[in-house]
Amino acid sequence: MGSAAAPLRVLLDMDGVLADFEGAVLREFRARFPAEPRLELAERRGFSVREQYRSLREDLAAKVASVYESPGFFLDLDPIPGALEAVQEMLHMQDTEVFICTSPLRKYEHCIVEKYKWVEKHLGPEFVERIILTRDKTVVAADLLFDDKDTIQGAEPNPSWEHILFTCCHNRHVQLPASRRRLRSWADDWRAILESKRRQ
Ligand SMILES: [Mg+2]
Repeated sequence: MGSAAAPLRVLLDMDGVLADFEGAVLREFRARFPAEPRLELAERRGFSVREQYRSLREDLAAKVASVYESPGFFLDLDPIPGALEAVQEMLHMQDTEVFICTSPLRKYEHCIVEKYKWVEKHLGPEFVERIILTRDKTVVAADLLFDDKDTIQGAEPNPSWEHILFTCCHNRHVQLPASRRRLRSWADDWRAILESKRRQ
């Protein structure tokens, strides 16, 4: 393998790609507010769980937010099936750099430290070195970004990465233009997506 070319740099979002944020929101909401209406995962639409609960009933927005703003919420997220294995395999690929690129909540008190602890617990202390925390992913330079948010905008109008939409309950129904690609799960062919970028 020739290694004259620059390594392929891959950014992995955390919530919805590596860690099951949506599953935990539903589980904890049901546990804390059993009498309130809730949104099953099959009913989720749109990136913001808070806004969809607001559309159900105004006061439910604060209730659902209280779930994911609670101490321990981010630390206890389950890994998305296949994610940890895929990340480890990617990390050991030749000419490949892997980073986690994640946006903390605006109420960041618990979220930030628990994201670091989650990465250490599930991926090991070396991986903590690979965390990029930012509210603006467009200014981070890479070849690929795997992210479940359907539209990613920021200060840079032409980000260097190709955004691969990682399928999650809330974006399943989003129709992408032909130019955009999805990864349906970690069982889908992420290796082929990486290889397609190497050839460019
Ligand atoms: Mg996400």
